[in-house]
Amino acid sequence: MDFETRAIHEGQQPDPATGAITVPIYQTSTFAQEAVGETKGYDYARVSNPTRTALQLCLASLEGAEHGVAFSSGLGAVTTLMHLVNPGDRVVAVADVYGGVYRMFSQVYEPKGYDFSWVPAEELNANAAEHIDERTRILWLESPTNPVLNIIDIRAVAEAAHAAGAMVVVDNTFASPYLQQPLQLGADVVVHSTTKYLGGHSDLIGGFAATNDPTIAERLLFLQKSLGAVPGPFDCWLVLRGLKTLAVRMRKHCENAHAVAGYLNEHPRVPQVLYPGLPTHPGHAIAARQMRDFGGMVSILLESEEEAVAFCASTKIFQLAESLGGVESLIEHPARMTHASTAEAPFAAARELVRLSVGIESAEDLVEDLESALVRSAATAGA
Ligand SMILES: *Cc1c(COP(=O)(O)O)cnc(C)c1O
Repeated sequence: MDFETRAIHEGQQPDPATGAITVPIYQTSTFAQEAVGETKGYDYARVSNPTRTALQLCLASLEGAEHGVAFSSGLGAVTTLMHLVNPGDRVVAVADVYGGVYRMFSQVYEPKGYDFSWVPAEELNANAAEHIDERTRILWLESPTNPVLNIIDIRAVAEAAHAAGAMVVVDNTFASPYLQQPLQLGADVVVHSTTKYLGGHSDLIGGFAATNDPTIAERLLFLQKSLGAVPGPFDCWLVLRGLKTLAVRMRKHCENAHAVAGYLNEHPRVPQVLYPGLPTHPGHAIAARQMRDFGGMVSILLESEEEAVAFCASTKIFQLAESLGGVESLIEHPARMTHASTAEAPFAAARELVRLSVGIESAEDLVEDLESALVRSAATAGA
């Protein structure tokens, strides 16, 4: 079945008890047993819950995965994955990972004796093998990266990693499985913040990991119940509901982002537009090969930090807020907001960088909003 059909039906038979078309929110912590140890497949809701099961089946299918494991947040998924490795092991990560992942790796796991090396995207694309040694257990990738939208050749890096016996994890939050399926490109594990495009309505926090490797899957399910970063049934239900419209939403996000990037790229007050859909973007050819379309995120570099900050406060439709991937357009200043925790990192977000999460409103309205905001911010910043 096609993606759109699986997004609506996979793992979601009408409720056996009542015929309810929509998977119910099983808001319960425990399940009655007929006799000691005799259950209907569920015993305690940290271990499993039918609403969560439906989500795991559906989203795994969308990633082309045999196994899916849901978490309470994207970072809940990441910290659980870190329990696949041990102190002394090395993780090689693309340098510009999500700020919260950088904070976790550098301030939680590094002090415990885990070893990290940070490699820029273009260097990974050119020479991945040179950065992987015998202690390297995980290659941690994001593509497109957050917030500068670098593109990694997932297939090429996965080949280099596997040749050295390392496992490849891809954070697919920015693309969503509609645009990119890392497991098909050779990744071993795909991880998500479902908070973003998968939920799609800025109304929940959630995470997910999927894999085709039965040994990894078994361990992740064990870690899910043992570490306990599990999502509640209502949050699972919200993600399930979001998945039903993922394909149509992503098509509109991409269409609007193309319009916004094209407009900004011609604007004299915008020195640089970072969008993999632009033919001038260094990752354009790789993105065109491994993604269905180029996504809904657009970043721009303005003349100065002052102008960037003024611009963020000048839009009316684009709301000034962290996060991304919802139906509504958002704008933010990574250096002071989402990526403040990378300020000390060698790849700290540029002070003049602005990140746009382009929503699914009217493209004309969005372009007009940016147009007036550029006029207002130029005035505020005294340009
Ligand atoms: C938001 C985000 C995360 C963290 O997810 P939470 O749901 O906020 O815990 C991880 N990776 C990327 C790329 C993100 O955008």
